[in-house]
Amino acid sequence: LKRIAILTSGGDAPGMNAAVRAVTRKAIFHGLEVFGVYNGYQGLINGDLVQLNLGSVGDIIQRGGTFLRSARCPEFRTEEGRAKAVVNLKKFEIDALVVVGGDGSYRGAQKLTGLGFPTIGLPGTIDNDIPGTDYTIGFDTALNTALEAIDKIRDTASSHERTYVIEVMGRDAGDIALYAGLAGGAESILVPERPEDLKEVLNRIQSGVNRGKKHSIVIVAEGAGRAQDVGDEIAKETGLDTRVTVLGHVQRGGAPTAADRVLASRMGAYAIDILLEGKQGRVVGVRGGKMVDLDIDEALDENKHELDLEILELSKQLSI
Ligand code: ADP
Repeated sequence: LKRIAILTSGGDAPGMNAAVRAVTRKAIFHGLEVFGVYNGYQGLINGDLVQLNLGSVGDIIQRGGTFLRSARCPEFRTEEGRAKAVVNLKKFEIDALVVVGGDGSYRGAQKLTGLGFPTIGLPGTIDNDIPGTDYTIGFDTALNTALEAIDKIRDTASSHERTYVIEVMGRDAGDIALYAGLAGGAESILVPERPEDLKEVLNRIQSGVNRGKKHSIVIVAEGAGRAQDVGDEIAKETGLDTRVTVLGHVQRGGAPTAADRVLASRMGAYAIDILLEGKQGRVVGVRGGKMVDLDIDEALDENKHELDLEILELSKQLSI
């Protein structure tokens, strides 16, 4: 192993820069050469690679987004596209590729592995929906952004008798909603993994009103439905003044939190460690605080990310 490349792909996430920095520095520490690929898989197809040195990844650990930029690349889904990518990887004499991205990006990495090209995947997405890891790079930052917004809405909520319905991101996963809802003291949390009867939500709001609560906060994961619909229903059934906020893409931006920088640094370094051990076709995760790696096929096909239902239950117990 002499020369590796790294790319970021799919939806960007805070902490991707910290991951690229860690991969680059750890690789150089071990005497390897590192190339950065711009614009995800599109950059592989176009041959958009530049050598990274220690300084290339300086002053980026604190920045959101990804300086290598990310892209969605339909051409990489075709055999011809992937063949072009492999030609470029050979041309640049790359021995292994590290891909930072979500499950779509993992599928791309799986295809490259299938073509015999050594690849390692790092989970980079705010959604926390990647199999094989407790946490993804970017999740903690998005969660804290959502929580900050919930806290601010709560401040204004306290001065009025209102119900606030707040929609957070997460695609098909309820993780951001669950953790932000628990941390933000929400009355109800709607997640796609455990659909809840709206009647239960209404009951909870009503019993809150009955015991003199001034306001209620309902968190809706985007995968569980639209906050506007939930808000309309609450207003119709309870007659309470109901306001709806959709947080949207603010959750994708911002400086990565300490937790995301630490996770990205550990995962990036671990990717180099396992490459040096001769492993390939693996994805990196954190389980119970420890770095782990598993086969990319296994991660994609046999494991499914699961929401922590105990936490959901806890949030219910604490919001009576
Ligand atoms: P994410 O990685 O955030 O889930 P996408 O699902 O858009 O984002 O995937 C990112 C990119 O990965 C796609 O634009 C495509 O280039 C590549 N990709 C996704 N799925 C596949 C697949 N089945 N085969 C090959 N490449 C894929």
